[in-house]
Amino acid sequence: MLKRLALFLTLISIQAFPQNIIAIRAGGVVDPVKGSVARNQIILVQDGKIKEIGPSLSIPAGATTVDLSHEWLCPGLMDTHVHLTLTEVTGGNAPFESFYLKESSTYRGLRGLRNAQDLLHAGFTTIRDLGNDGNYALEDVRRSVQAGMFDGPTILTAGKIIAPFGGQSTSIPPEQGPFWRYEYIDADTSEEMRKAVRQNIYYGVDVIKLVADNSPYHLSLDEVKAAVDEAHHAGRAVAVHVYGGEAADNVIDGGVDSVEHGFFLTDQQLQKMKAKGIFLVGTDTPRSQLDIVGTSGGIFPPPEVLAPKIINRLRRAYRVGVKMAFGTDTVIEVPNKTRADLMFDYLSVWREAGVPAADILKCMTSNPAELLRINQERGTLTPGLAADIVAMPANPLDDIESLRKINFVMKNGKIIRRP
Ligand SMILES: [Zn+2]
Repeated sequence: MLKRLALFLTLISIQAFPQNIIAIRAGGVVDPVKGSVARNQIILVQDGKIKEIGPSLSIPAGATTVDLSHEWLCPGLMDTHVHLTLTEVTGGNAPFESFYLKESSTYRGLRGLRNAQDLLHAGFTTIRDLGNDGNYALEDVRRSVQAGMFDGPTILTAGKIIAPFGGQSTSIPPEQGPFWRYEYIDADTSEEMRKAVRQNIYYGVDVIKLVADNSPYHLSLDEVKAAVDEAHHAGRAVAVHVYGGEAADNVIDGGVDSVEHGFFLTDQQLQKMKAKGIFLVGTDTPRSQLDIVGTSGGIFPPPEVLAPKIINRLRRAYRVGVKMAFGTDTVIEVPNKTRADLMFDYLSVWREAGVPAADILKCMTSNPAELLRINQERGTLTPGLAADIVAMPANPLDDIESLRKINFVMKNGKIIRRP
């Protein structure tokens, strides 16, 4: 009886409130997986999800219609390597760690929220944040967005970065103590690694981030394996910052889920990643931004040497066929440019590496959804999945730079901006 009543009430509410359906008239719907466009489609969105897509659907009476008949639509974009709460001071003599003394965890969280909203506005509906998050400040940003207090992208967090002693700090005098632990956990044995992973999961992270080779010493194979074992048993993926060499061998053999940066990976290492299904998140930095970052205290070769190496590595990775997801790692500020502008600047590297537009778009939508383990929820325009949709006045398969012109953003079925 109760079931019948519930069904009756459901039917009543559907009929009485058809306005919870949004009907989008789309000029073109881009499918990055197939690399194809379907012209003149109607997308029905209900309760935050895509209900139906087709050329001749009837629009229910009372539905809200959105006319995007001169626009090209595609799934919401994803960036799998960001640091929302961090703006790195460039130029001058300020060390990397100086912001610990100047910015509270609350301020960091507020910056994270602001950046998250700016990126959503630009078309990034899903973001994986890989740490440097001001003592778990971003966990609260994510919670507040999930609770509906603010509009924001889907955010996956990594909490504190786990690394060998010293985090990503260099040459801090012993008198100052290990203050990098505000954002890093030191792990120098397999047991410490397991404990660090558990600590992060306790404080609510979605993914585990390791830094393998930021120092003259690097993570051992056993340490990587311990982190992967602990994280995978808790249903979390492991992302690892590593540039190349023996440290990259340990990371790949250790069975992680994604290699971050990997600027100096060999073809052999890329082939091994492909065989093991490990993603490359290449953070393929354009020359214009390498010129601002410099050598990061001697970690990198000069920009004129590194920039072609990055393009070459992306070209080789694409040729080998390793799975890739778009990630930018943008933390700098440039006058008259938004953070989203700086992220779109990375597209030039993908173009120079010869990656076709459809594959670039795949690396910004369905591929990251797989890496982030959310492909049953979002990442493609498929009935039943979340209505994360963006639109722009030109076809991104003709020119991937069209993504800069995104003027419509829908997130979980809510219109965030429209032309
Ligand atoms: Zn990073």
